[in-house]
Amino acid sequence: MSRSRVILLFSTLLLIVFTVVFSTRGKGTHERPKYMLVVHGGAGYYPKDSPKEITEAYNRSLLNALKIGEDILKSGGTSLDAVTAVVQYFENDSLFNAGKGAVLNRDGIAQLDASVMEGKTTKAGAVAAVEHIKNPILAARLVMEKTPHVLLTGYGAERLAKENGLEMVDSSYFYTAKNRANWKDAKSKGTVGAVALDMEGNLAAATSTGGTGYKLPGRIGDSPIIGAGTYANNNTLGISATGKGEKFIRNSVAFRISALMEYKNMSLEEACSEVLNNVLDPEDGGVIAIDKNGNFVLMFTTNSMFRGFTGEGLTPKAMIWRDE
Ligand code: ASP
Repeated sequence: MSRSRVILLFSTLLLIVFTVVFSTRGKGTHERPKYMLVVHGGAGYYPKDSPKEITEAYNRSLLNALKIGEDILKSGGTSLDAVTAVVQYFENDSLFNAGKGAVLNRDGIAQLDASVMEGKTTKAGAVAAVEHIKNPILAARLVMEKTPHVLLTGYGAERLAKENGLEMVDSSYFYTAKNRANWKDAKSKGTVGAVALDMEGNLAAATSTGGTGYKLPGRIGDSPIIGAGTYANNNTLGISATGKGEKFIRNSVAFRISALMEYKNMSLEEACSEVLNNVLDPEDGGVIAIDKNGNFVLMFTTNSMFRGFTGEGLTPKAMIWRDE
């Protein structure tokens, strides 16, 4: 067997094991939990021997985000408000490739993409290639709630944001010592996302990113593309993806998983496994998702994915590598 086949087989096995361990909430037979929340901070290669302080900072941030979202859901808030607040928190945390600290394009500018979708109405909003909106996720929500459109880019998105009082910033706001030092060789680890199920049984999903490092100006990834990087439908699931955006767009990954559930009657776990095992390659990325019954999946083909979950009766948990 060739080396690459061995690696492929090995990662497939890992994926299967991983799926079983983390989809422990049954196959839709249990009572739906009152609320559920999953978050991610990107999939990629995060070395096991990374400095302890940095690993701790990631875990802390994931737990902070879970607390912000859970507080909203616990007090009867909507899944839409929970995912928006979680993603806004991550955008303000320069550890992640979203908002402040996002990777820079070939011109040395952060061009940001974000989207949000609610499962009750399947209404969605997204912005792409914006450079001056402090929190692109808030602009995505404006597109959803204040316009008849789904996706606005650049200038138009920024004008809508400004007219509606969102905080606008100079492009230098997004700079950090890290994104400037890694400008040309940044790996796009650190896209952020959240999916929630609220007490009304409504699902919502949100994703935000700086895209891929050193990308061509104007490049738009999967994160603001509904059905690729983000999707929510109360009949199936809420889902947020991270990874090689072009691959997720070409394969409509988020909608594909929803469609397998809707048309082939697959469980969330089966649908995610099918797509990650057969459509994605090792190193491509991962997804977090919750189905309408509160089952959840945190699945990836990479070495690591910053991620966490909480929900009714669960202790919030943050994880990075496979074996956690
Ligand atoms: N999916 C994002 C993009 O391609 C990047 C990532 O998730 O790492 O824009």
